Amino acid sequence: MRGSRIQQNLLLSGNSGLCLTAGLGESEICGSNALVAQLDRAPDYGSGGWGFESSRARHPLMALLFPLRPPASPQERDQRIMELALREAQLAADRDEVPVGAVVVRGNEILARAGNRVEELKDATAHAEMLALTSAFEAAGEKRLVDAELFVTLEPCIQCAGAILHARLARVVFGATDPKFGGVVSLTQIFELDGLNHRVLHEGGLFADESASLLRDFFRAKRKASPS
Ligand SMILES: [Zn+2]
Repeated sequence: MRGSRIQQNLLLSGNSGLCLTAGLGESEICGSNALVAQLDRAPDYGSGGWGFESSRARHPLMALLFPLRPPASPQERDQRIMELALREAQLAADRDEVPVGAVVVRGNEILARAGNRVEELKDATAHAEMLALTSAFEAAGEKRLVDAELFVTLEPCIQCAGAILHARLARVVFGATDPKFGGVVSLTQIFELDGLNHRVLHEGGLFADESASLLRDFFRAKRKASPS
């Protein structure tokens, strides 16, 4: 199941191909997309998902977050990474999944991107954060991701907050809060528990409206499709 998750996640990353261009103009997006498409079709793409992953990890350009225009400030950096997470959330909605997207970065390097795939994988734990973390471990070749950051459009749930602790991430940035399952500030505050020997910096509210409206629109459409 884990392999299946990773493979699905990487296929998604290959299709979206937007990691090089967050926050840039439309023409730049098109140009870089073409480049990404070329890279994705490179001979070392591999016959399976694993080969594809190796290809991405090896190519320095694929891993760079801001190759064309470095962010002017830490705030702009966060915004541009969260825009990538929002794109993953939109792609999840397009697949008829609850629209949540996540990106794992370390410094100026994207380690992984993913959207929720609970329905597709028939796995209630296949949240965007879990898939992104699994993929990031694989990309980094490390079992922990000290100094890495996770950006996610919705407050991580209890499960994902626990996984973030296991991964030893340095920082989590999320969009909308989740009163029902949120494990960072809403339902409980897992990162603040006494006795933990690892602290995770966390900030919420970045693109909260956009993140929440994706979710609202999704559930509104669901209700319309099956009123009862
Ligand atoms: Zn979760």
